[in-house]
Amino acid sequence: MAEDQKGLAIGIDLGTTYSCVAVWQQQHNRVEIIHNDQGNNITPSCVAFTDHERLIGDAAKNQAASNPENTIFDVKRLIGRKYSDPLVQKDKMLWPFKVVAGVDDKPMISVKYKGQEKSLCAEEISSMVLSKMRDIAEAYLEKPVKNAVVTVPAYFNDSQRKATMDAGAIVGLNVIRIINEPTAAAIAYGLDKRNDCVGERNIFVFDFGGGTFDVSILTIKNKVFQVKATAGNTHLGGEDIDNRMINYFVEEMKRKSKVDISGNPRALRRLKSACERAKRALSYAVTTNIEIDGLFEGIDLLSSITRAKFEEINMEVFEECMQTVDRCLKDAKMEKTSVHDVVLVGGSSRIPKMQQLLQDFFNGKDLCKSINPDEAVAYGAAVQAALLTEGLKNVPDLVLKDVTPLSLGILVTGDLMNVMIPKNTTIPIKKKQVFCTNLDYQFSTTIKVYEGERVKASDNNLLGFFHICGFPPAARGYPLDVTFAINENGILSVSAEDKATGNRKGIIISNDKGRLSNEEISKMIKEAENYKSEDEKFLKKAIAMNGLDDHVYKIRKALRKEDISSMLSSKEKEDIMSKILRATYMLDRRNEMEDIVAIEDFLKDLKAISEGIVVVENGCKRKRES
Ligand code: ADP
Ligand code: MG
Repeated sequence: MAEDQKGLAIGIDLGTTYSCVAVWQQQHNRVEIIHNDQGNNITPSCVAFTDHERLIGDAAKNQAASNPENTIFDVKRLIGRKYSDPLVQKDKMLWPFKVVAGVDDKPMISVKYKGQEKSLCAEEISSMVLSKMRDIAEAYLEKPVKNAVVTVPAYFNDSQRKATMDAGAIVGLNVIRIINEPTAAAIAYGLDKRNDCVGERNIFVFDFGGGTFDVSILTIKNKVFQVKATAGNTHLGGEDIDNRMINYFVEEMKRKSKVDISGNPRALRRLKSACERAKRALSYAVTTNIEIDGLFEGIDLLSSITRAKFEEINMEVFEECMQTVDRCLKDAKMEKTSVHDVVLVGGSSRIPKMQQLLQDFFNGKDLCKSINPDEAVAYGAAVQAALLTEGLKNVPDLVLKDVTPLSLGILVTGDLMNVMIPKNTTIPIKKKQVFCTNLDYQFSTTIKVYEGERVKASDNNLLGFFHICGFPPAARGYPLDVTFAINENGILSVSAEDKATGNRKGIIISNDKGRLSNEEISKMIKEAENYKSEDEKFLKKAIAMNGLDDHVYKIRKALRKEDISSMLSSKEKEDIMSKILRATYMLDRRNEMEDIVAIEDFLKDLKAISEGIVVVENGCKRKRES
C-alpha cells in the first residue's frame, strides 16, 4: 500500500451517464481535464458486449441502438442496492438490458458476450468504466496511473460507497479517497473565488446530473472548506426526464398510430436517444422536432414538442428538486439570504426551467455559471488527489471538512433507532456510548447497525450486525461500550467492548449482504484481466487485419497501373496474385481468424514481395532494382 500511495493520482468523476477524468499538472500549476480518444472531455459511462469485443465509452454508446440488450448504462443506479429494492424494480422496466436477482438478492446484469451468456454485477461494469478513465489518463500522461480519488453523490450510503471502492479494486485502481461530488465541485468553484472574499463565504452547490441529484451547502473560510449540510436523491436526474419524455411519445404513438412500442427494446432505445437530443435542444430552443424513420413496424415517429409541454411533463421532477433545496437549507440552519453563491453543476442544471425555479427561490439572485458543469467534479477530485500525493509542489492549500449524509445508530429495545452519529456530522469522527443489558444474567447481545432518519430502527436501512458474548453473570444494566467511527471516505466501522472482560467485537460494515467478499473481488480481478487481454488481442488483430486490408488495396491499385505492373516478372506477378487471393480469403473470414502472429507474418511476407511496386505507387520515383 505504501508503495502504491506514491506516484501519480488522478481525479475521476464516475457519473451515472458521463464520467470525466482530471489531473493536477504541477509544471503548469493547474488542473487539466483530460480528453478521451475521441477528443471529448466527458466519456459515456457505458459498456457494450458484442460477438467479438467489449466496448467502453463513446464506442459503446454509438452502437447502442443496434445492440440494446448488451449495451449497459446507468449502473450507478444499481450499485450498492438489492435486486428487490423498489427503485431497482422500477428502473428495470425501462432498461433494454436484463437484470436478474443473484446470490443474496444482488442485482446481476446478464449479457451475451462472444456468443455466451455472462452475468455481471454493477461493480464490475463500473470497474470497466474506471479502467477506461484510467486508460484515457495514461494515454495522455504517457505513464502508468495507480491511484485515484473517485467521487460519489453526497447522498450515497455506506454500501454504495464501498461498492464504488470495490469497483476500483477490481481493475487494480487504488481508490485513495472517496469524496462527495458537490464538495468536489465546490473546490473547483471556491479555489477561484476564495481570494476575492474576506471572511466567510457560503456556497450552495446544485448538482443535477443524469442519474442523481445532490445539493450541498459549504462555508469557505481561508483554506477551510466546511460542508454544512447535504441532501439529495440518488435516484433523480436527467434520465428520469428522458423517461418521462419517452412515456409521453409512447402514449402519443398509441393514440395517433395505434401501436404500442413499449415492449420493443430497439425502438425504445432509439426513442430514448431522440428524446435526450430533444431535451438538450429545448434548453436553448422553445420548440423542437422529433423524427425517427421506421421506429416500429415501419411506422415513423414524426412529431414535435414545445418547451412549455416539456416543462409540464417534468414539473414534478423540478419540484422535487426544489423541495430538496429547501430541506438542505433547513438542515444547515441557514437563511437563503445568507447564501453568497449558487453554483450550478451537472448537465441537467442547464435546463432553463430548473434555473428559473432556483433563481426565484433565491429571490432573483444571479446563478454562478462560471465553472463548467460537466467538469467541475473531476476538477475538484484532481485537486484532492494532488493534496494526497506526497511531494507535489504548488498544490492549492485547502482543508476539506465533509459530513456524513445519513444518521447512523443501533437498534435498542422497542425497535428504536438510537442515533450515534447524526446526519451532517463532520467526518472523520469517532463516538462512544455506553449501553446496558436489559435482562438479568444476560450472556450475549446482538448489535444491529442502521442508517436513516426514521425513529423506528426497522424502517431504516440495516447495514450489518454482530454478536458479542461471554458477559459474566450480572443483573440487568451490565455496561457495554459501543464505538462508531467514520473514516475520511465516509465508511463506517462499529465495535463493542466489554470493559470488564476486555472482550471486543466489531465490524467494518463489510460483510453485509450485497457487498463483495474478498474472494469475489479476487475472482473479478482475474476476469477483468481476461477482459483486458481479450480487448488487447482484439485491438492487435484489428490493427493487423486493417494493415493487411490497406496493403492489399495499395497493391491492387499499383497493379492497375500499366507502368508499374510491367516492372514485375510474370513469376513475381503470379506470386503476388496468389498472396492477394489468400489475403482476400483471410479478410472475408476476419472473425474466425484467431492466430494474430500468422496474420502479421503473412503481412510481412506480402510487404516484402510487393515492396517495390507499393513504394513506386506511393509516389516515390525510386527506380526498382532488378
Ligand atoms: P452524471 O454526473 O449523473 O453522469 P452529468 O452531469 O454528466 O450526469 O449530466 C448528464 C445529464 O445531463 C444527462 O441526462 C444529459 O441528458 C443532461 N444534459 C446535458 N446537457 C443538457 C442540456 N443542454 N439540457 C438538458 N439536459 C442536459
Ligand atoms: Mg455528476
